[in-house]
Amino acid sequence: MPELPEVETVKRQLEKRIVGKRISSIKILSKKQFLGNFQKTIGQQIDRLWRRAKILAINVGRLTLLVHLKMTGQIIYLSKNRKPISVGHPLPFSPNQLPNKTTRVIIELEDGSRLFFNDLRKFGWIKLLDGDKIEKELSGLGPEPLEKDFSLDYFSKKLANTRRMIKIVLMDQAVVAGIGNIYASEILFEAGINPARQANSLSNREVANLYRAIKKILLQAIDYGGTSAADQAYIRPDASPGRYQNKLRVYQREGKECFGCFGKVKRIKQANRSTFFCSSCQQ
Ligand SMILES: [Zn+2]
Repeated sequence: MPELPEVETVKRQLEKRIVGKRISSIKILSKKQFLGNFQKTIGQQIDRLWRRAKILAINVGRLTLLVHLKMTGQIIYLSKNRKPISVGHPLPFSPNQLPNKTTRVIIELEDGSRLFFNDLRKFGWIKLLDGDKIEKELSGLGPEPLEKDFSLDYFSKKLANTRRMIKIVLMDQAVVAGIGNIYASEILFEAGINPARQANSLSNREVANLYRAIKKILLQAIDYGGTSAADQAYIRPDASPGRYQNKLRVYQREGKECFGCFGKVKRIKQANRSTFFCSSCQQ
């Protein structure tokens, strides 16, 4: 599932290509995945893109399109007359052909370029909202981990107040926004903390290490354009995969040698999701 670094990558690639252009048509192929009256966007100019947690926002006139990619969503941009390029991905995520059977929404811009919202599993959505509805829609989210309001003091207090397992807390969007299953595992490995530890059992020093690891890993992953993991669901708007999968140290490396010791990476289930870790490097 795309997390903060993947959505940030999509935002950065896309804004260079679509800001300043007007929407000329929207085709909705999967009705349940588009909420709102799309007609209101026709002829409106795309002014700005931004991201909150794992949600991409596109300001269109006085309206905003919120896009959540959920498990398997992709946004691919094709300029006019350009044929989709093959990047060697296996079906059903292949962008070799657009639209394809996973295409749910097509947004056409005035210069003939198109955005394809593909989503194999159909959990993703696009919502068209008026300015004043945005705040309410995003109200349950905690601070952005790379912004100032996510302070060490704030984070320490949140952890001290819960006995939940630390990995579950890292993925709680109300505590800190944008971290999912991939980066929770990677961050805990970086910090040397066992994912099953109770959050309130962490020492001040461990909390500080974890806090630093969150920022370090997320920034690195953005630098590398996000993670195209084993399912290949995530690709960038130019249809190329991210590169952080080559940097992963525990995620999807069960049974492989640990990068920190001679042990092997283990996999456990926490809240029905796989967690990858090293039981000797992470105490
Ligand atoms: Zn190890």
